[in-house]
Amino acid sequence: MTTFRRIAVVGGGAAGMLAALAVRAAGQHATLFERNKRLGIKILISGGGKCNITHNALPRPMEQGFIPPEARFLRYAFHTLTADSLLAMLHAEGVETFTRPNGRVFPVSGSADDVLSAFERMLRRADVEVRTNAHVQSVLVEDGVAVGVQLAGKAMPFDAVIVATGGISYRKVGTTGDGISWGEALGIPVVPLRPALAPIYFSPPPPAHWQGVALRDVRLTFTPTLQSLGIPNAKHFNQTWRDDLLLTHRGASGPAVLEISRAVALAQEAGATPTLIADVAPEQTHQDLLDTFLDRLQASPTSEIQTLVAGFVPQAVVESVMEQAGIESGRKLGAVRRQEREKLIATLKQWRVGTVGEVPIDRGEVTAGGIALRGVGPTTMRSQSVRNLYFAGEALDVAGRVGGYNLQAAFSTGWAAGQAAATNPEKEE
Ligand SMILES: Cc1cc2nc3c(=O)[nH]c(=O)nc-3n(C[C@H](O)[C@H](O)[C@H](O)COP(=O)(O)OP(=O)(O)OC[C@H]3O[C@@H](n4cnc5c(N)ncnc54)[C@H](O)[C@@H]3O)c2cc1C
Repeated sequence: MTTFRRIAVVGGGAAGMLAALAVRAAGQHATLFERNKRLGIKILISGGGKCNITHNALPRPMEQGFIPPEARFLRYAFHTLTADSLLAMLHAEGVETFTRPNGRVFPVSGSADDVLSAFERMLRRADVEVRTNAHVQSVLVEDGVAVGVQLAGKAMPFDAVIVATGGISYRKVGTTGDGISWGEALGIPVVPLRPALAPIYFSPPPPAHWQGVALRDVRLTFTPTLQSLGIPNAKHFNQTWRDDLLLTHRGASGPAVLEISRAVALAQEAGATPTLIADVAPEQTHQDLLDTFLDRLQASPTSEIQTLVAGFVPQAVVESVMEQAGIESGRKLGAVRRQEREKLIATLKQWRVGTVGEVPIDRGEVTAGGIALRGVGPTTMRSQSVRNLYFAGEALDVAGRVGGYNLQAAFSTGWAAGQAAATNPEKEE
C-alpha cells in the first residue's frame, strides 16, 4: 500500500506543471512553487508566442530531436507521456491543434496563452496547491535525503522534491539555473552549461545595412570542424544545417543558425574562432552554376556581374560576395575572366558570412548542459545520490532541436518524475 506523500515541485514551467499533475493523478499531494507571478512564462514566449507544443511523431522519431546520449536517456519518458497523450490532455481542455507539414504542432488559435491557460485549468481541477511569487531558496537535504525546501527563510518539510527550475537562458524571465546550482552544491554531477538554439554575434559586427536581411534556404556551416578540433563525439552535433538565415544588427539568427549554434559554441570553447559559411545555392552544383553563368553571358554579355549575383543573394550582401570573389562591381559579364568566374562560383557555394564573436547563452531557446544524465535514473528522474530528489525538464543535460522537442522533453520528464515521486520512490534502476 502506498502511504500518503507530500511532494514539492519547484519551478512552474512545462516540466513542473506536468510533474504536479502526475503526482495528483497518482493520488498524492503536490505543491507547485513558482517564483514568477504566473506559471509557465517560457510557454508564453515559445514559438514566437504561438507555442510549438510538440512534434507530431511516434515516441521513437521524437528522439531524433536529440543527440544520441540524450535521446537514449529520454526514451522512457517519451513513452510515459507521448506527444499524443499530451495533445489529448490539451484537446480535452478545448485547445485544438494542428500539425505543420514539418511535424511541428501548434494551437490552432496561434496563442501560447491558450496552451498555458489549459494547463492552469488542469492544475486547478486536480487540486494542485499552486504557490506563485514563491522563490524557493534551496532544497533541504539531511543525511543524503531530500526533506523539503527553504522558502522565505522558512523550512517547509516534504516527502520528496522535484526540481524543475529550467536552464539559464532568458534569465530575466526567472530561469537563473537555481536547481543546477543546488545539484552541484549537493555533489550531483553537472555538465557545464552551454548555449543551444542561440543566435550568433559576429566580431566585427556586420554592416548596418545587413540588419533584417533574410537569405532563404541556405546550407549553413562553419570552420573549423569539431572533428578537426578533437571534440569528443563531434559527429553527434549539427555542424551544418539547411534552412533560412537571418542577418541581424549583431550577427546572424534564424533556423539555420539556431541549429548549429551549439556546435559553434563548442568550437569556440575549444579555442577556435569559427567562421560561418553559407552555400547560397544548395540545390545547384558547381556545373549548374557554371551553366547559369554561361547562359547569362551568351544572352547578355554586357550586363554587369552584380546582377547575376543578385539572383542568388539579397542586394544587401551582393557587395560582400563580390568582395570575397575578388571581382569589382560594374564589370561586364563578358569581361570576367575564367579564373574569376570559378572564384565567384566557389564563393556562392562557400560565402564567408562572418566571424563568430559570441554565441550568447542568455539568448538561447534552451541551455545545453545541466544536471548530468548519468546522475539521474532515466525511468524515474530520481537522483542517484540524493534520495527523494528528482530533476525534470531543461535543468537536465538535454537540449533538443527546434521543432517542439524541448517542450515535449520537459512535459515528458516532468510527468515521469511526478509519477515516480508519487508512486514508487524507492524503485531501483
Ligand atoms: C524564446 C523561446 C522560444 C521557445 N520556443 C519553443 C517552442 O516553440 N517549442 C519548444 O519545444 N521549445 C521552445 N523553447 C524551449 C522551451 O520553452 C523550454 O525548453 C521549456 O520551456 C523548458 O521547460 P522547463 O519546465 O524545464 O523550464 P522552464 O519553462 O524554464 O520553467 C522553469 C520555471 O522555474 C521557475 N524557477 C526557477 N528557479 C526557481 C526558484 N528558485 N523557485 C521557484 N521557481 C523557480 C522559473 O521562473 C520558470 O518558470 C523556447 C524557449 C525560448 C526561450
